[in-house]
Amino acid sequence: MQTFNTVAGLRRYLQQARLEKAAIGFVPTMGALHDGHIALIQTAVRENDLTVCSIFVNPVQFNNPDDLQKYPRTLEADSLQLQEAGCDVLFAPEVTEMYPQAPIVSFGFGPLETVMEGTFRPGHFSGVGIVVAKLFNIVEPDKAYFGQKDLQQTAVVRALVRDLSFPVDIRICPTLRESDGLAMSSRNTRLTAQERTIAPQLFQVLKTCKKELLAGIPVETARQHADAAFAAMEGFRLEYLEIVDAVSLQPLTRRGAPETTAICVAAYLGEVRLIDNLVF
Ligand code: AMP
Repeated sequence: MQTFNTVAGLRRYLQQARLEKAAIGFVPTMGALHDGHIALIQTAVRENDLTVCSIFVNPVQFNNPDDLQKYPRTLEADSLQLQEAGCDVLFAPEVTEMYPQAPIVSFGFGPLETVMEGTFRPGHFSGVGIVVAKLFNIVEPDKAYFGQKDLQQTAVVRALVRDLSFPVDIRICPTLRESDGLAMSSRNTRLTAQERTIAPQLFQVLKTCKKELLAGIPVETARQHADAAFAAMEGFRLEYLEIVDAVSLQPLTRRGAPETTAICVAAYLGEVRLIDNLVF
């Protein structure tokens, strides 16, 4: 695996690969890699001639300075995992390489950011838009891989690609979970042992809510039941639990056709903010 820390070095290398007509797959990450990230890499390796992974903890998408400071950074271990998974290129720039000065451009995503993460993390999706646009311009991938775990992010990235005509095929991969149902996340390593034992309850509430909706219980009632379940669970502080259209992300008043309903949740467990969703 080749590792690059500079935009110029990576561009030179990829230019040559492109001349040789290599199809380039790209997996942007913030590192502290787990099996969910590695599944994205493995899919990219299967579907492309050359796979590029970026590891960059993007400061402009953090609305909480404490979260940015405490974000786990494990570059050496990440690099080994990527190599084992068959990744060809790692791009791991410093902040000053990506942002020689603080960016003055910003993005708005209209109705996609007036709900859920957009409400609770002001400026977050603008920061995501900036880094994804930059990385697409640097890597110029044929395909880029994102996890359904960050459902709203996938909608924002699709809008970015559509509205700005990026020639990139966006592939969404399923959420990988621990055996007890907890969605894998880099932030899970920050949970205390006690918090880790109760963390899977988040997924249990999503599953119960899904079951109720499939049984025909009205959307608003199912949502209230889920709210009540959170209120009864010690340790969690619920930010939102929304039942939305899986594409527009707008709240639903009744369940739609199969695969168009999404239940999305964000909750603090101690100091750690967890998100998860189910689409069905
Ligand atoms: P992050 O490093 O958290 O920015 O995530 C990088 C990519 O991995 C994003 O597209 C995430 O949606 C995806 N991802 C994170 N957790 C999971 C998971 N548990 N399963 C599948 N994909 C994931």
